[in-house]
Amino acid sequence: ICEHSHRGPVFDAVLDEAVADCRTVGGIPDDYEILFLQGGATLQFGMIPMNFLPEDGVADYPDTGVWTNKAIKEAKAFGTVNVAFDGSACGYDHVPTREELSLSENAAYLHYCSNNTIFGTRFDVPPETAAPLVCDASSEMFARPIDVARHALIYAGAQKNLGPSGVALVIIHREFMSKAVRTPISMLDYARHAKGGSRLNTPPTFGIYMMGLVFKWILAEGGLEAIERRNEAKAKLLYDAIDGSGGFYRGVSRPECRSRMNVTFRLPSEALEKTFVAEAAAEGMDGLKGHRDAGGVRASIYNAFPIAGCERLASFMGEFASKHG
Ligand SMILES: *Cc1c(COP(=O)(O)O)cnc(C)c1O
Repeated sequence: ICEHSHRGPVFDAVLDEAVADCRTVGGIPDDYEILFLQGGATLQFGMIPMNFLPEDGVADYPDTGVWTNKAIKEAKAFGTVNVAFDGSACGYDHVPTREELSLSENAAYLHYCSNNTIFGTRFDVPPETAAPLVCDASSEMFARPIDVARHALIYAGAQKNLGPSGVALVIIHREFMSKAVRTPISMLDYARHAKGGSRLNTPPTFGIYMMGLVFKWILAEGGLEAIERRNEAKAKLLYDAIDGSGGFYRGVSRPECRSRMNVTFRLPSEALEKTFVAEAAAEGMDGLKGHRDAGGVRASIYNAFPIAGCERLASFMGEFASKHG
């Protein structure tokens, strides 16, 4: 694919199939555009308020972790941000309940992060609001069915669940797209990307090709319901290991908000956490150190991660607890 022109017939077919398969996987209605953009999820942090937050307007942003923090900072450059929930007060151990959300009147949109990658929490269902819903689904895109019709815009950097880095998937409602308020630069204009079929310039052809293969894999596995069942089983193995450890392991997230993608937990001391991470790595289980902003341990078990890996980690957790507990 790297040898073909991005406007040639070979890539035409790759792109068309990727869009069509994405629509099938996500059950994405016809009045939504599917865009493959660059700049990652992080560019969406700025592009969304640039397009949809008027200077004299306000947008609601529940702050549920590191990524929403970054999104809030970017949005403040364009208009007023109402931090509709301040998760820092509880160490980001949960996402807001309906009562905890303080919404503004006539918000241009509400931006939320459906799965908080670093602290390991998630929204079971999208927050309730009358405002258009914008979702950062970067760390759980296509890990479970999504109610696309509830959303004005859903975006995700590809690299966690969808394919290699370098592509961001954006699903945007056409009517919402037509309300953009600032469109000075073509690469930052959703409508021009839509009109150009994600080919305003040379797109990341290899990433789109790979993402297309991932969509086909999801369909072959039985679609998002089947993927969700497997993700539930994977996460349950690890949460059972936490809950059955007699308090040796402590989950970071409140049980009702537990992420199925990022399982975060603490051990009785930081020294034991270090030993845990080192001994796990020695057994071939790498990358368990928690994010520097959260500490502790984090097992990221995205779609591509096999159930056997979770079984292996769960049994290691049991052995480690009996040796050190
Ligand atoms: C990883 C991540 C991002 C950042 O993605 P980039 O593509 O690197 O910009 C944003 N939001 C969430 C929830 C993430 O997990």
